[in-house]
Amino acid sequence: MTDTARPIRTRIAPSPTGDPHVGTAYIALINYCFAKKHGGELLLRIEDTDQARSTPQSEKAILDALKWLGLDWAEGPDVGGPHGPYRQSERSAIYTEHCEKLMADGHAFKCYCTAEKLSQMRKDQIARKKPPRYDGTCLSLTDVERSELDLQGVPHVVRMKIPESGTCEVQDTLRGKIEFEYAAVDMQVLMKSDGLPTYHLANVVDDHLMGITHVMRGEEWISSAPKHLLLYQYFGWEPPVLTHLPLLLNADKSKLSKRKNPTSILYYRRAGYLSEAMVNFLGLFIKSSGEEDEKTTLQALIDDFDVQHISLGGSVFDTSKLDWLNGRYMREDMDAAGFLERVREWALNDAYMMPIADMTQSRITKMSDLGGLTAMFFMNRIEGLTLERLRSGVKLDELQQRQAYTLALSQFDALLDWDKDGVDATLRATAAALDVKLKDMIRAFYLAVTGEAQGVPLFDAITHLGRDIMRERLRHAMELLGPATKKEVKAWEALLRESKSEG
Ligand code: GLU
Repeated sequence: MTDTARPIRTRIAPSPTGDPHVGTAYIALINYCFAKKHGGELLLRIEDTDQARSTPQSEKAILDALKWLGLDWAEGPDVGGPHGPYRQSERSAIYTEHCEKLMADGHAFKCYCTAEKLSQMRKDQIARKKPPRYDGTCLSLTDVERSELDLQGVPHVVRMKIPESGTCEVQDTLRGKIEFEYAAVDMQVLMKSDGLPTYHLANVVDDHLMGITHVMRGEEWISSAPKHLLLYQYFGWEPPVLTHLPLLLNADKSKLSKRKNPTSILYYRRAGYLSEAMVNFLGLFIKSSGEEDEKTTLQALIDDFDVQHISLGGSVFDTSKLDWLNGRYMREDMDAAGFLERVREWALNDAYMMPIADMTQSRITKMSDLGGLTAMFFMNRIEGLTLERLRSGVKLDELQQRQAYTLALSQFDALLDWDKDGVDATLRATAAALDVKLKDMIRAFYLAVTGEAQGVPLFDAITHLGRDIMRERLRHAMELLGPATKKEVKAWEALLRESKSEG
């Protein structure tokens, strides 16, 4: 995989649409180790073509999380470089130019089909047991018809042409040759009607212009590979070496999801894991097996890196392994002074303590009350919480309490900005949807969040604890009360929507 004359260049191309995901860190680590091992470079590119969902906060959080893990990149939006800009939203003119070239060369075409027409097409194909795909209607338009439609201002997208027959061979480093029948490949939209590119066009154009030699990405992109290879062919460019990496999995082997496991790097940092333990943990998925000691360093991962060590079976994200490793780092790699230093970095610093000082001051009579009032700021789950405790003195019945936690969880997940106004609005909307008094519901939240029936101001405490720890504590409470089924979640969310629309 390395016998190419070009210097090795890999990339990590996150979409800034949420919290920094452990899967992004895992893929970044692989790209980093591979590049470093071969004296090459890692680039960071922000794929923010989904303008509605991309946010600068998410971009910053992703960069911070990767830096926290000790990764760095030779080029990227924060460090610049000769192939910039490194944010796709700043590269529109480049994509337009390339899309026009594809059309001029007869490899792409304008499609004026409406959403209704496409949905009907889909239904008909499904009814005929055919794979749903674009049927090529607009391919038969003449130049005159197209000009006419453009003159009338009818919106269009641009689609790529796909050969009618034949197969596309995708050579994947881990899987060997994979064949795709062109007949099953859709005429992918390259440019949306708003003039912005789709992932496929932007990704291929950028990988080429940025000199990427090796694309190592999640296996969910395998089915896109034939389209990408065809685009390379249409442009007359040499494609990169492709490696599709197995996904991280929940314990039940389903794709890692935040319903079953915390997936945000920010969570692991807040929960008090060390970055080197996290890197080590992710490194276990790419390390040659059979070595006795699983404790390793970033440098050893680089030296030992061989993509063939990665097992296609997928990698179960077993947090008990992470706990075990983290404990070892805590005990074996630092003396008491070093340990204290890490605790300071984690929480015993002004940035974390000042809001806590603010919250406790009004509820305290002597300084020795501090431990009891604030212990929960230094915990992950409230250990020792029981069902009995969670129900003690709560006026809501058990069903209402489960509904309250579930509805808070789903609204917390959807909050764009995590701040006190959002927390406040979430809890008020929840009480309104369940038709219970906010005061009665608050007790249930005090118990789940702090383990006590009262304490520091709750909304401030929740805001300060952050979304990830809140998710964990509410999930813990739901485990004690009995987790909600999918059906229940759906029905309860409908209650909330109804109540919100009644206003
Ligand atoms: N923006 C894509 C993602 O976040 C990148 C996929 C790729 O590496 O090509 O998954």
